[in-house]
Amino acid sequence: MITISKSSYIRGLQCEKSFYLNFFHKQFGIQRDVQDTKKFEIGHDVGRYAQGLFPGGVDCGYAKTNDRVKSCQLTKQAIAEGKEVIYEAAFEYDGLLCFADIMVNNGEQWIIYEVKSTTSVKEYHINDAAFQYYVISNNVPVQDAFVVHLNNQYIRNGEIDINQLFVKESVLEKVLNLQDEIKITIPHFKKLTSAKSIPDIKLGKHCDDPFACDFKGYCWRDIPEYSVFDLQNMRGKQFDLYNQGVVEIKDIPKDYPLNDKQRIEVNSFLNNKDHLNKEAVNEFLSKISYPLYFMDFESYMSAIPEYNNVRPYQQIPFQFSLYYKENMKAEAVPFSFLAEPEGDPRQQFIENLINQTQRPGAIIVFNAGFEKSRINELARDFPEFAEELSNIHSRIIDLMVPFRDKAYYKPEMHSSYSMKYVLPAIDPNYTYDNLIIQDGTQAGSEFLRLRTISDETQTTQIRKDLIDYCNRDTYGMVLILEELEKLT
Ligand code: SF4
Repeated sequence: MITISKSSYIRGLQCEKSFYLNFFHKQFGIQRDVQDTKKFEIGHDVGRYAQGLFPGGVDCGYAKTNDRVKSCQLTKQAIAEGKEVIYEAAFEYDGLLCFADIMVNNGEQWIIYEVKSTTSVKEYHINDAAFQYYVISNNVPVQDAFVVHLNNQYIRNGEIDINQLFVKESVLEKVLNLQDEIKITIPHFKKLTSAKSIPDIKLGKHCDDPFACDFKGYCWRDIPEYSVFDLQNMRGKQFDLYNQGVVEIKDIPKDYPLNDKQRIEVNSFLNNKDHLNKEAVNEFLSKISYPLYFMDFESYMSAIPEYNNVRPYQQIPFQFSLYYKENMKAEAVPFSFLAEPEGDPRQQFIENLINQTQRPGAIIVFNAGFEKSRINELARDFPEFAEELSNIHSRIIDLMVPFRDKAYYKPEMHSSYSMKYVLPAIDPNYTYDNLIIQDGTQAGSEFLRLRTISDETQTTQIRKDLIDYCNRDTYGMVLILEELEKLT
């Protein structure tokens, strides 16, 4: 008989097709990527810390037994022996299975604590806790159910204070309200496990909500590389079009209501022609005068603050790349900073940044919100450098603006104004395909991986990959600005 786990149940609530495929055609799903693995690691880290809220528990988890039946037996045994705290307590009921992160006995009844690595309670956490309550309350009496999540107001000062790091929120009322629904949903899901064919579910918002579905590669395989799903700010209208049989940009009805930017994207694609609002580009360029810096930061974050003055999930900048260009015709001169992986990289980062931006000149970045936020956080956490950091902040100009505003658009940008699309559209020699590191999340993971590697050849290679990646973004800005200058 098929057992429905909590994760299968949550998957089924998102999409019945995904529920079915996960049972019978797992091979159609994707392998977990770096980001997902990272999320998994974060979850485990947070879970381990949260156990400290109720120390001395017995671990009955799958990681210990490698067998769900054994985990259930261990849990039963722990309960029978009168243990007060159980970690990863496993329960089965009527073909359903769940593990509770922490269970605490108050004498007569049990309290369930489900640990989440988020900084608030999400809707799917309630469904998750409701399923657990349903299974567990059919095994033992349950007094309350809590979601334990990270406190985004917590600032580390010395040793981690786990009572401040976590927030415990009772979700009992909401969980009880869902019990009747669960009683209807479970038989329906069980029926699905004996269905002869894959449920016919169309693409929709549910493919990414609350999670990006593992089966997108399979269900979305016929969607062209550039389609109605790529147009910016469609706010769900892309699915209206899809449901009317319109997937390709060329099939969008002429009178279909699109905003000005979407119209530019569509016309540019249909006519295979660049769009240029010369006046807007000129106005943007009028704010820029040489000499110029071009700058890009990389950062990582961790759920549990590693250093003093750091909050959960705070971005920790560890690398920057700069190019300095004296005048329009001069060669751009590079400088790279990459911190050592051990210890707090921020002070070295700040000192190098201040030193390397001493010469006069505005600082060009792409998507200024990221760099400006990091500088604000550094100024807040290192007030002794606040004045110099504020000076750097005030010199920043965002090169993304003319692309976000569609002052200049090329069909190859595929409706995006991110650097990963803008740069190759402007200069096809500068793609990201030939780089080992493909995005900022991977850069953060690779930096952290340096801590675990002692082989010098390997660490040298990772450091080179990081520098190549960061430089690609920064030198890309040099090329993009040159292109705008040529246009006008
Ligand atoms: S990609 Fe969308 S339709 Fe396909 S299984 Fe996933 S959620 Fe369902």
